[in-house]
Amino acid sequence: MQRRYIPALVMFVALLMLLAGLSAKMTAVPAVSFAAEKEIYLTFDDGPSTSVTERILDILKGEDVKATFFIVGERVRGREKTLRRIAAEGHTLGVHSETHVYSQIYSSAEALVRDADACAETIRTVTGIHPRVYRFPGGGKHPASASLLRRKGYRIVSWNAVCGDEEIAGASADVLFSTAVETAKGKQPVILLCHDSATHRKTAEALPRIIEYFRGEGYTFSAF
Ligand SMILES: [Zn+2]
Repeated sequence: MQRRYIPALVMFVALLMLLAGLSAKMTAVPAVSFAAEKEIYLTFDDGPSTSVTERILDILKGEDVKATFFIVGERVRGREKTLRRIAAEGHTLGVHSETHVYSQIYSSAEALVRDADACAETIRTVTGIHPRVYRFPGGGKHPASASLLRRKGYRIVSWNAVCGDEEIAGASADVLFSTAVETAKGKQPVILLCHDSATHRKTAEALPRIIEYFRGEGYTFSAF
């Protein structure tokens, strides 16, 4: 090889090495950023209660996790401070029911909407927040009521996983934790149903483990 070609060859090899490095970087990036994002929504129905809701709020604050609370309007009286705390700490307030009495709520689509409006009004009066998410008491599908609620601007939120605090009588915190893990399998995003009314101390007890598990599995916590 003629000597005058050597600098050009060195340049060419250097350029090849640079391109190889760049392409390695470019192929490495998608492997991280395009990984399926895992997301979980923690939702709490039937509160507020004094002891359980406050305990749950302490845990969520300590873990820096936001959640969604579907409120029973009649349970707010005397617990206005707890309702305001839910809002002040960045959680979402949703409408569940004013009375939670199924025979009244489900007597007609109009009755259900009146019940939802009464609960929304309670939340508005106490916190100044206009709730925009709704969960049917007892779950299920109620197409006539659902379309009326949607026309009023509500997003209807169901669930696809449970911790079992209503479904399994007398469940221990261990059982609630394993039920949450089992029922969340294969769901994306996970919308986990829990309860924070006064009888659900075990739910608060299970919550730190539930958060630790899903965080460890790479989930991000979202609120509606
Ligand atoms: Zn309920």
